[in-house]
Order: sequence, then structure tokens, then C-alpha cells
Amino acid sequence: MKRIVIKVGSSTVTHETGLLNLKKVEELAKVISDLSNMGKEIILVSSGAVAAGMGRMNMNEKPESVPEKQALASIGQSELMYIYDKFFSQFGKVVAQMLMTKRVLEVDMLRHNAIATLNQLLAYRAIPIINENDSVATEELVYGDNDTLGATTAELVHADLLLVLSDIDGLYDKNPSLHKDAKLIPIVEKVTSDIEAMAEDAITKVGTGGMITKVQAAKIATEANCDMIICNSKDLRVIYDAVEGKPVGTLFKRRNTHE
Ligand code: ADP
Repeated sequence: MKRIVIKVGSSTVTHETGLLNLKKVEELAKVISDLSNMGKEIILVSSGAVAAGMGRMNMNEKPESVPEKQALASIGQSELMYIYDKFFSQFGKVVAQMLMTKRVLEVDMLRHNAIATLNQLLAYRAIPIINENDSVATEELVYGDNDTLGATTAELVHADLLLVLSDIDGLYDKNPSLHKDAKLIPIVEKVTSDIEAMAEDAITKVGTGGMITKVQAAKIATEANCDMIICNSKDLRVIYDAVEGKPVGTLFKRRNTHE
């Protein structure tokens, strides 16, 4: 595996207070820098702008309204990049910000520009850090928590692997937050309607996609010939295991491996 998109959700990069988890962000920078040193091409899709904005504005409660979240994301995005830049710089890496919207993917010219920029950044050995452009789009803030953005990015760059880091070990046959007897599904050969039916929302938080958007992302990635893994971000060494092909979390197999 050479080209890998790593998507981190709010649950990974923020504390329960809503503020940024700096230890996690630093660990992430270290592992990704190390993978880059190993010759891997890594693209990071990261949430966390609202959390960084809250920190900057000394707020300790996430606001409810979308314009407030958009404004905080706008304040926080530069803060988030500053923090990533600081941590990645410690390991000698250059980061590059790319803000995307769904429209970028739908309009040919914008899509081609995004692909060209991403490929050039990877050729420079820089680490692209992608987030939704929250000031003009609300997909992430309202529904998706960047899961589908991760998948479409993987599709754009023909990634070998999309790694979705979450607060849960993978896809379970039912929502493990509600059912104690839920079982982890290690491998999904194909995203069928049965698989889709297992995925539920994240009940603990407002406005993130839970497993629903992750399974949607798996559909996009696997159909674009990219494997996708959902795994738990509590110990980021899991990233090495996933990249080495060891069994972790839930692997959604790319379509062409079984056709
Ligand atoms: P992130 O912020 O990392 O993107 P989310 O909190 O949005 O993660 O999504 C993960 C959550 O989805 C889990 O903590 C769990 O509560 C919920 N969930 C719903 N259905 C399932 C399922 N079938 N398997 C695993 N988790 C599920």
C-alpha cells in the first residue's frame, strides 16, 4: 500500500469538552510523518475546526446553530492548521491545507484542479490536510463529519486504502452503544443493504454521521477500487497495523478483489 487517505473524526481530535485533543493531534502527526518517511503518500482528512474555534474564543460549549458553527469553523480552521503545522514541523514535514466542498467533486474543472493539486503536493512529499470548507458548505457540520469527503478524496487520488479512525473498533452488526451483545464484523466483502441496515447514527453527539456516513463512504471507496478500514483511534499504533495489512477493525474490501 502506497497511497493512503486517513480520515479522523471529531471524536478522535477533540475531547468530550468539545475542545481539541492536542495529545492526539501530536501523536497523529508523528505516526503520519513516520509513514511518510517509510515512503507512503498520506493525505489527512481532518475535522476539528469548530473545536479549535471554540478554544480560540474561550467557549466551552458547542453552539447549536449552523451559522455559529460555521463562524467558529472559520475562526478555528487557521488555528487547526497552525497546530498541525507546528506538530508536523517537529518531524520535518510540510503540511498543505485544502478546503473542499461537494461542488468541487461535481464540477469537472474544479475536480481536475483538485486532483492536480493533490498529486503535486504528494510529489513534493507534503502532507495535504483536507477539511470541508465550512464557511460555504454545511455537509460536515450538519450530516457527514467528513466521512464521505474522505471517500471521495480516496477516489480522486486513486488511493490504495482509506483509513477511517473513530471512537469505535469498527462496524458492529448493531449499534454497540445501545446493544451489549453487538458483534464486530471483521470483513465486509460488499456493502449490501443488510450491511447498510446495521449502521446507525451516533446517538451521543449532535450532527455527526455515526456509522451511516461511514458505510456510505465505504460504498464510494470500494467502488472506486480502494479498500477501507474503520478502526479505533484510542491507540494510534493501529495505523501501522492497518497499513501493514494486519487484521484491525472492519475491512471493507475493494470491489475488484472479488469480481
Ligand atoms: P467519528 O466522530 O469518529 O466520525 P461517530 O461518533 O460519528 O465517529 O460514529 C461512531 C459511532 O457510531 C459509534 O460510537 C456508535 O455510537 C455509532 N454506531 C451506530 N451504529 C453502529 C454500528 N452498527 N457499529 C458501530 N458503531 C455504530
